[in-house]
Formats: sequence, structure tokens, C-alpha cells
Amino acid sequence: MLEVQELRKSFAGFVAVGGVSLTVETGQIAAVIGPNGAGKSTLFNLITGHLQPDSGAVRLDGRDITGAAPHRIVRMGVGRSFQRTNIFPKLTVFENIQAAFLVHHGRGLNFWARSEALYRTETAALLYSIGLDGQENTIAGTLSYGNQKQLELGLALASDPRVLLLDEPTAGMSATETHETIRLLERIAGERSLTLLFTEHDMEVVFSIAQKIAVLHQGRIIADGTPEAVRNDAEVRRVYLGHREEQRA
Ligand code: ADP
Ligand code: MG
Repeated sequence: MLEVQELRKSFAGFVAVGGVSLTVETGQIAAVIGPNGAGKSTLFNLITGHLQPDSGAVRLDGRDITGAAPHRIVRMGVGRSFQRTNIFPKLTVFENIQAAFLVHHGRGLNFWARSEALYRTETAALLYSIGLDGQENTIAGTLSYGNQKQLELGLALASDPRVLLLDEPTAGMSATETHETIRLLERIAGERSLTLLFTEHDMEVVFSIAQKIAVLHQGRIIADGTPEAVRNDAEVRRVYLGHREEQRA
């Protein structure tokens, strides 16, 4: 479904992504893990067209999408969420999702007043699916952090993606919120037959959901395989556990 081939990106001579190759099969839940600064967000931005690669290729279902504009990549079926929450804080929960449907179907927000009656059924169904029914009229910016992240997932789902890229979907969450989010993601991926690729800095979260894990370290993949294989990989243990000990020290 998704194939990344030898992607490279430098910022003023600093190599953030240094030749990354990765494949995700249709319907697979795959994770990219690695310490802060490993290049995870940069890799996602290269896949979704928010950054142009210096070289390399991205293919979606065999089709070359390298360097295409973000909105075109969304139209081709790749949804995403960002590491920093990206919602409309002053709109209600309902209006957030409705706006996402309107935008996806090519209706601008200029005609907001006339658009009010549109996509109400779809919006209600999606809110139910992400567990935000009952909060329709809450101003999005006043939701709990966990609920804001749920809403952001809903915004990505409104474009009816085949592939969903989530950048640290549980960042900043409490243990309970993290657990609920992982279960929500699993359920939605199953219901919609989604291909899911997410980044995460917490290994425990990843092992509870991912079917395939790629480990990124200083812009390169140092291990790629089943959770079991990655867990037992000597270099992963050295890099990852070493890093944690540095942080603790
Ligand atoms: P991660 O998401 O794994 O924490 P990032 O992809 O955000 O890592 O960053 C990888 C490296 O690239 C970091 O050292 C970061 O400082 C650098 N970097 C990311 N974006 C930029 C940018 N726009 N300009 C310069 N350096 C950047
Ligand atoms: Mg990041």
C-alpha cells in the first residue's frame, strides 16, 4: 500500500532523514519508533508532501506520489494527524468535523451559513465512531487533551483515508488516555480496513498494537520487522536503552 524508497532530507547540511526505505502492506498496523530527533516527523512530512525530499521516492498503491502537494496526497487517500494538535479551537466539536467534511468535498468555508445543513448525518456518525458523541456542542478548545486528540483523529478520518499516518498519537497523554487511544485506533483501523502507520517514542505503546515496527535512529532505519524481532535486536537494545539511560542520568 505504501512504499518509501531511499528517502533523504537534509536541513542546511544536517541529515534528518538519511536514506530511509520502508513498506507497509494493505491493512497493516505499522510503527516507526525512535528517540526524539530521530527523524520520525520529518519522514512523515516527506510522505505527506509537507516537505520535499532531496531524493528518493514515495509510492501509494504502486503510484508515484513523491513531492505531490499535501492536499493532493490527502485526495489520493492518505490521511494524517500532527504531533502538535491541529483542530479548530473556537468551533464546536460538531462544527470541526462538519468543516472537515465540507473541505474534503470541495466546499469552502466561505459559505458556512449555507453549508450548515450539509453532512450532518456523516458528522454525527463519525463523532459516534470516535467516541465524541455527547460532546457535539462543546467548544473544541475546551476539550480535555485526550478528547482533542480524538477529535483530531476524526478530522483525519473525514477525508475517508485508505492510509492513515499518525505522528505520536498518544504524546502528552495520561496512561488511561493512552490506553483508550490505542484501543480506539485498533477498532477504527479494523472497522475501516485502514492501513495505519504511526510514530511513537514509547516502546510499550508500540508493542501493544503494531504488527510491524521500524526503528529510526539518527535518520536511518536500524531495524525493521515483527515486534518480536525488533525487541530482541541487539542494536535496538543498545541504541534505545542507551538513550534512555542518558536521559535518566
Ligand atoms: P523526531 O520526530 O523523530 O523527534 P524530527 O523529524 O522532528 O525528529 O527531527 C529530526 C532532526 O531534524 C532533528 O534534529 C531536528 O532538529 C531536525 N529538523 C527537523 N525539522 C527541521 C527544520 N525545518 N529545519 C532544521 N532542522 C530540522
Ligand atoms: Mg516528531
